[in-house]
Amino acid sequence: MIRLFLMAFLFAAALPAQAQFNFNINKLLDSAKSLRSATREIDQREEIAIGDDLAARLLGAAPLASDARLQRYVNHVGRWLASQTGRAELPWRFGVLEAPQLNAFAVPGGTIFITRGLLERMKSEAELAGVLAHEIVHVLQKHHLKAIQKGAKTSLAGDALGYALKDARSEARDKLLSLGTELYSRGLDKSDEFEADRLGVAIAARAGYDSYGLPAVLQTLQAMNAQDSGVALMFKTHPAPGERLNALGERMQPTLDAYAGQPQLVERFAAEAKSR
Ligand SMILES: [Zn+2]
Repeated sequence: MIRLFLMAFLFAAALPAQAQFNFNINKLLDSAKSLRSATREIDQREEIAIGDDLAARLLGAAPLASDARLQRYVNHVGRWLASQTGRAELPWRFGVLEAPQLNAFAVPGGTIFITRGLLERMKSEAELAGVLAHEIVHVLQKHHLKAIQKGAKTSLAGDALGYALKDARSEARDKLLSLGTELYSRGLDKSDEFEADRLGVAIAARAGYDSYGLPAVLQTLQAMNAQDSGVALMFKTHPAPGERLNALGERMQPTLDAYAGQPQLVERFAAEAKSR
């Protein structure tokens, strides 16, 4: 797994031209940046270590796809997006899981997974960028980390969080990781998801993509039956797609409109990401 992740290639000339982003987007992202200091008790090194442990546990549920070209491509797109953010220095890595369900999730410290099932339903690189940018925001804003920290405060005794951070082999660490994995079947607060949608749209637009990538994926999800086992977990852990689309429209319509004409990269996506 690490080998796949380590294949860091810089985006070549085929990149979409960097957006001529306007003041609005920068303001949005800067206000997000100022929230970075909100979680003081877990430093970045610990955040990355917890993320690595969590990622290893979550990978037990579905293996990484063995298609190296696909993994490289998704890493290209993801790292390009992450390079536009206030936490570009994190060890960002992106993995495609060999699973038919439609899902994507972020792990503290910069690890992001997306399922083959979700990729298969996408039509362009702009859609992929929209979803990856949403997940990147969860890392930037430490949504999972803060939820785990909050859970630890209420369900771990005394200074168990301190022990869990200090000793990777302690019982407290094991409990902390259990709290973490549980979060991925329960989901984050709705407000975190809406924030990830809003800032995700801004990051994808800043990176040069058609801003309607994420909304297009939400429309695909909206058209699916909530009883479909392929979307059951996604629907359980996220607000309904229609609700997310409405929330995006309310707060982000000017940004969506301003960057709607940027590249979608339909053909490159088909060549790189579709089953061979
Ligand atoms: Zn999310």
